[in-house]
This record gives sequence, C-alpha cells and structure tokens, in this order.
Amino acid sequence: MTDRFDPFWAGCARGVLLVPRCAGCGRWHWYPPLGCPCGGELVWTDVGDTGTVFSFTVAHRSFLPPGAVALPYPVALVEPDAAPGVRLLGAVIGTEPAVGQRVSVDFRNGLPVFLNS
Ligand SMILES: [Zn+2]
Repeated sequence: MTDRFDPFWAGCARGVLLVPRCAGCGRWHWYPPLGCPCGGELVWTDVGDTGTVFSFTVAHRSFLPPGAVALPYPVALVEPDAAPGVRLLGAVIGTEPAVGQRVSVDFRNGLPVFLNS
C-alpha cells in the first residue's frame, strides 16, 4: 500500500528533504495533497538543507524512535529557504531554538532534524 507521504520518507532515507510542488502553478504544498487546486502535476522537489525557525516548543515525551534524541528536546516548525510558506516539523538538536533562527537539516533514523547553522 502506498501513502502520499512515501516520497517524503524515501527522500529522508536518502538524506534529501523533498516537498511536493505543482508543475503547473509553482505552488509548494504541505501536507501533501492529492492534487493541486489548479490541476497541475505535483512533483516532489528537493528543498535543500537550510531554513528558518517559524515556531517551536519543547517535547517532554518522545515521538521519535527510542534513542533518537534525549528528552526533553525542542521541536520546531521550520520554513525551508527554497519553499516559502511550507513549515516542516522536526526535533532541534544541539541548540535552544529561537523564532527566526537559521537552521540546517540533518537526518536521524530516517527523520529530519534541525541543527544550528
Ligand atoms: Zn498548481
């Protein structure tokens, strides 16, 4: 069975952050929709490895596989530089996040995480 997030997780497994973009109108989409309202084809596109913290909180219970990160850990919504308006959720490692902070993406156990850049 396929899931509309499969291309995202396949990209993470290869160390690439992929987000669907409409080939017709150029709009970025997150979460992945079944299709763009304009009817254009969605293409999973590499958004690079840098972005900005939009918001954050601190998780005291882990949603990640055991051992992925130590509790408690900050979780941020990050807007990739290449995909304005998209906000991806991920743990922040090695820094206390702040709104507007520049971060880079890395991967732990197939999940995207964010580091101070
Ligand atoms: Zn479109």
